[in-house]
Amino acid sequence: MTCKLCKEDPIVFGGNKRKCYFKNSKNNWNCETVNQIRELEHKNNHRIIRTWYNEHTIMIIWLHNIIDIRGVQCLYVQWYKHRGKTESLNLMFDNGTCRKPKEKELLKIISYFKDKKGSD
Ligand SMILES: [Zn+2]
Repeated sequence: MTCKLCKEDPIVFGGNKRKCYFKNSKNNWNCETVNQIRELEHKNNHRIIRTWYNEHTIMIIWLHNIIDIRGVQCLYVQWYKHRGKTESLNLMFDNGTCRKPKEKELLKIISYFKDKKGSD
């Protein structure tokens, strides 16, 4: 399944076609929903932590009261450089498990931070 945002805008600057994360999570490239999640790294919000080492970036978004899923704690995102591929994207739970997020869950997170400035 291709996400709504990739369907609406399938070609990136330069003429290359996006590879939607929701169609193939292992071979994704510039999925627009995931790109918008990654853009949250620039938000100055206490729920978002970002760090990097040797051009690998890790971002953790604290999700309490953002998405209503039993036991969910955070979204973990990892990518290398800024080439467009996201290596890892997982919801982490308080029982130690994780799973890949659904499109609607990522859209809810994006929507939550859309107009946020600083802390909430
Ligand atoms: Zn997509």
